[in-house]
Amino acid sequence: MDAARVAVVGAGVIGLSTAVCISKVVSRCTITVIADKFTPDTTSDVAAGMLIPHAYPDTPILKQKQWFRETFDHLFALANSAEAGDAGVHLVSGWQIFQSIPTEEVPYWADVVLGFRKMTEAELKKFPRHMYGQAFTTLKCEGPAYLPWLEKRVKASGGQLLARRVEDLWDLQPSFDIVVNCSGLGSRQLAGDMEVFPIRGQVLQVQVPWVKHFIRDGSGLTYVYPGAFHVTLGGTRQQGDWNLSPDAEVSRDILSRCCALEPSLRGAHSVQEKVGLRPTRSGVRLQREFLDRNGRRLPVVHNYGHGAGGVSVHWGTALEAARLVGECVRALRAPAPKSKL
Ligand SMILES: Cc1cc2nc3c(=O)[nH]c(=O)nc-3n(C[C@H](O)[C@H](O)[C@H](O)COP(=O)(O)OP(=O)(O)OC[C@H]3O[C@@H](n4cnc5c(N)ncnc54)[C@H](O)[C@@H]3O)c2cc1C
Repeated sequence: MDAARVAVVGAGVIGLSTAVCISKVVSRCTITVIADKFTPDTTSDVAAGMLIPHAYPDTPILKQKQWFRETFDHLFALANSAEAGDAGVHLVSGWQIFQSIPTEEVPYWADVVLGFRKMTEAELKKFPRHMYGQAFTTLKCEGPAYLPWLEKRVKASGGQLLARRVEDLWDLQPSFDIVVNCSGLGSRQLAGDMEVFPIRGQVLQVQVPWVKHFIRDGSGLTYVYPGAFHVTLGGTRQQGDWNLSPDAEVSRDILSRCCALEPSLRGAHSVQEKVGLRPTRSGVRLQREFLDRNGRRLPVVHNYGHGAGGVSVHWGTALEAARLVGECVRALRAPAPKSKL
């Protein structure tokens, strides 16, 4: 068999990282990333990109931890390289604060981030309405820089990017031997999966260069995340809401909640509003299946449904999807079983 032709549907952080991992892990294949939206127009461009895991109720914690650790290690190496600026990846330190003692004083990811510890009384003085907090250093990975960086990696490995809407995964055969579905919310249509739904998130991007530490209110609803280009203020979690237009009333509420945590934000200027729809599911669907029609077979690897934490686990899930693609390629190359007649 010639090189296996692999189509990756989706050009958000999941599709592009999966394409890069396939090019590293699977030998003798060609890769085409197909999507109707590329950076800067994907959900992944709106994400604040903080590496703080979000819990997937249907996925074992050990698996979630493995995905997070692999992602952290990959981005930590990138943050320590000369490519850090181009890739939009950097370390950031700060606080996660609580109004009462959380049930999980030491979360499962505490030994993956750097220097995790309980906040001191002196630190907590900054947050008079909070009684408990955790301090740590993590990474921030900014979509508008990281996605173009991933696109360059795809092209450097010989892959192609194709702007096109896919109506049905089956339409990609016979041009492709294997399809990898990283279409996020698009999987409602492409995989017929009604379990995946949007959780709308609205954020503000402001110029407040004096704010250097992240602040995350324990529930994760209100946050101040400093980045290379702006500080992201969040947020909202509006379940089932498909509206991509910013809501001025919501923006006022976000600013007021964030100012309560960091009063110096009252001096914020150049406020931009952004909205994204988190492709949510009870667990990421990372699975191989075969589509069968008219006596033909198309192997499909699914990698979607990363919800509120896709950036935090993207490299781990991309590596796992790439291994599944490797299994599909080996199966295609295996000689067909001989007839016993
Ligand atoms: C406000 C906000 C803040 C966030 N902050 C964080 C954070 O700090 N940390 C974190 O880890 N996560 C965060 N997230 C979550 C993160 O953004 C998502 O988990 C992640 O972006 C999902 O990536 P994805 O590639 O699956 O989806 P997307 O980025 O939506 O990409 C889907 C791709 O599939 C393509 N596609 C879909 N259907 C079709 C079709 N029919 N034909 C062709 N192409 C198709 C789209 O065009 C697109 O290219 C945040 C999300 C939001 C909204």
